[in-house]
Amino acid sequence: QTADSLYVINNFAQKFFTEQLLHTDNGKAIALSYLRERGFRDTVIDKFQLGYNPDTKDTLTKALLANQFNAELLPKTGLVSVRNNNELVDNYRGRIIFPIHNISGKIIGFGARIIGKNDHAPKYINTPENELYVKSKILYGSYFARMAIDKADECLLVEGYTDVISLHQAGIENVVASGGTSLTTDQLRLIKKYTNNLTIIYDGDNAGVKAALRGLDMALEEGLDVRLVLIPDNEDPDSYVNKVGAKAFNEFVAAAKKDFIIFQLEVMLREAGGDVTKKSNVVNQVAETLSRINRVEDFTKQQDYIRQCAGILRIDENGLTTLVNKYKR
Ligand code: ATP
Ligand code: MN
Ligand code: MN
Ligand code: MN
Repeated sequence: QTADSLYVINNFAQKFFTEQLLHTDNGKAIALSYLRERGFRDTVIDKFQLGYNPDTKDTLTKALLANQFNAELLPKTGLVSVRNNNELVDNYRGRIIFPIHNISGKIIGFGARIIGKNDHAPKYINTPENELYVKSKILYGSYFARMAIDKADECLLVEGYTDVISLHQAGIENVVASGGTSLTTDQLRLIKKYTNNLTIIYDGDNAGVKAALRGLDMALEEGLDVRLVLIPDNEDPDSYVNKVGAKAFNEFVAAAKKDFIIFQLEVMLREAGGDVTKKSNVVNQVAETLSRINRVEDFTKQQDYIRQCAGILRIDENGLTTLVNKYKR
């Protein structure tokens, strides 16, 4: 019941935001010009139903109330907030709006980005958890990506809204975003419905690598094959594809794509250097990771990895097998 009302409100709000972006003087001068400067073309602005909440106290709120939407329900959507004196005001003032669609294309929430740089406000505000918006189950872009994921038999995972949109613009459509947080089992299962092949494309900075590594163990348990691409030079997929173009981006991804288990092993080995104790820790870590590939149908895959990793570590394959089995629960 509530869920249905929330859908209706979200739909109304999306149309309002899009109207503001495309057909008002302020929307065009402030928001549309910002999006165009960043390189977003009309095709993706339309496709992803981007919008703008004007920098006024309650333009959206008034429109919602004028359309008889339940005032009690409005704060739940995150679109408006309640002030001390019970007054309702717009929550995403002066922000670019990214509607968030579920896998069947219904709008379940919004991301709202500040325009330009501002150190005093959060860059993004997202819908609070409600009946529709359950952060741990959402992958931004899944609705627009699902057919391409199926066709490519691969899902690309990026961090942000703008990464998804820019890659679409570059013709890469099998892409979803985690919203900057670490992956959940529910999100991995959503991907698994369409493909076994997950390619994580994160910023090459430490935070990006760590966020990616956190998802690995869970992904292995779900039976996904995980590959990793790190974007260089403090870029993210959005800025990088805009810098080098679609062709070079694709070539980079193809060349930089690494098996995630092997990547993790190489990173740890490099850090261990010649230290015997550290290397021994690496062996244990790898064994622990490999022990998570434990679904019966993945037995051969696990064997392959044990062979590869033992080779890289220059240790006995049977020894590594024994160790892996010790970690199995
Ligand atoms: P842009 O290109 O517009 O700067 P981005 O996607 O590159 O955006 P990042 O800082 O890389 O921004 O963050 C990645 C993702 O994490 C965002 O797309 C957003 O979903 C989420 N995020 C970032 N900052 C916040 C925040 N302050 N609150 C909530 N979510 C955030
Ligand atoms: Mn980052
Ligand atoms: Mn980013
Ligand atoms: Mn970015």
